[in-house]
Amino acid sequence: MTSQENYKVNSNGYYGKYGGAYVPEMLLPNIFELQENYLEIMNKSSFKKEFHYLLRDYVGRPTPLYLAHRMSEKYQAQIFLKREDLCHTGAHKVNNTIGQILLAKSLHKKKIIAETGAGQHGVATATVCALMGMECIIYMGAVDMVRQRPNVERMKILGAEIRAAQSGSKTLKDATNEAMRHWINHPTDTHYIIGSVVGPHPYPDLVARFQSVISEEIKFQLNEQIGRDYPDMVIACVGGGSNAAGAFYHYLDRSEVQLVAAEAAGLGIDHKKSAATTFLGTEGILHGSKTLLMQTPDGQVTEPYSISAGLDYPGIGPLHAHLFDSERAFFCAVTDEEAMHAGIALSRLEGIIPAIETAHAISVLEKIEIKDKVVVINVSGRGDKDLDTYITWGKY
Ligand SMILES: *Cc1c(COP(=O)(O)O)cnc(C)c1O
Repeated sequence: MTSQENYKVNSNGYYGKYGGAYVPEMLLPNIFELQENYLEIMNKSSFKKEFHYLLRDYVGRPTPLYLAHRMSEKYQAQIFLKREDLCHTGAHKVNNTIGQILLAKSLHKKKIIAETGAGQHGVATATVCALMGMECIIYMGAVDMVRQRPNVERMKILGAEIRAAQSGSKTLKDATNEAMRHWINHPTDTHYIIGSVVGPHPYPDLVARFQSVISEEIKFQLNEQIGRDYPDMVIACVGGGSNAAGAFYHYLDRSEVQLVAAEAAGLGIDHKKSAATTFLGTEGILHGSKTLLMQTPDGQVTEPYSISAGLDYPGIGPLHAHLFDSERAFFCAVTDEEAMHAGIALSRLEGIIPAIETAHAISVLEKIEIKDKVVVINVSGRGDKDLDTYITWGKY
């Protein structure tokens, strides 16, 4: 393996020792169909043309790369904000759902299924299904449906059917199981849109490729603004890892760029209520891939906790597990309290109220030395959806 290929998926679907496709035998035909076709479809010029047309005219890309003046002054660095919060629907997730629905159409699929935890991926999926006039079924844990009521209503307004997962803890992993079961029973006419760089190969790679538009834009925007196409450091939050994968993608093989991933520590890494996978996780199989996840010694997945619904996930994608093991990326654990303070700080310094997921990435500025550096922070989403959490926290 050359150094150029160290951090990209290999032909067997692995990043180092992580990845692969650990699915029930009944799902293998669906997975093989994707594995055999995704690169050829995505590399077609007609596919690229439609993808980039929709990213521009529907999503609103390129999103700005904004030099945050007051924040830069505070930290004596050049801090750029990549404004994924300005995407249609308020976050980066739509980059991937646009890509996957075009992929589904190319594979002549008629229906879309997805699972959602906090509802953000469900909304991004329901959005593109409405755009394309495709039938959309979203699986969501019954407990999550109560906790995330506004997103349930958004999905319904967009015309999606929501199916409540009533098994287990009635949260994300149960919704994922039921979506998988649905797919096994409808293998030919249905595409399953996974929302992050997780799941069996080829999902982590195809989601990373769709999100890689983020670092593709950072390169030319930095070049325009500072005359070189790379920063000293890129910082992004990691739930499953898709916004980070997109922001890191074109810098993975460029060792002059430091990659920093912010994980949700919840109440702290020495507390039961946490979601900091690289600190608390061990190797295992989650959602069809070998990766790092939080589990009990006998292999039961631990229920994660974070104040941020989008980071409340018990694992990380296999790419990130490999970036952690190889020390290519530095992982930083950020508590609820630290993230909330950082969210308020960005609001006050730059007039941007971030999603609480994003606030975890902002908080990294308090934890590592960035003086005189060119830093890009990926602002994965806007804070409108989190207003109740800000209000309940109350310290502003
Ligand atoms: C879903 C979400 C995340 C976490 O997902 P990743 O796949 O890790 O990017 C981060 N930020 C926002 C705003 C989200 O909606």
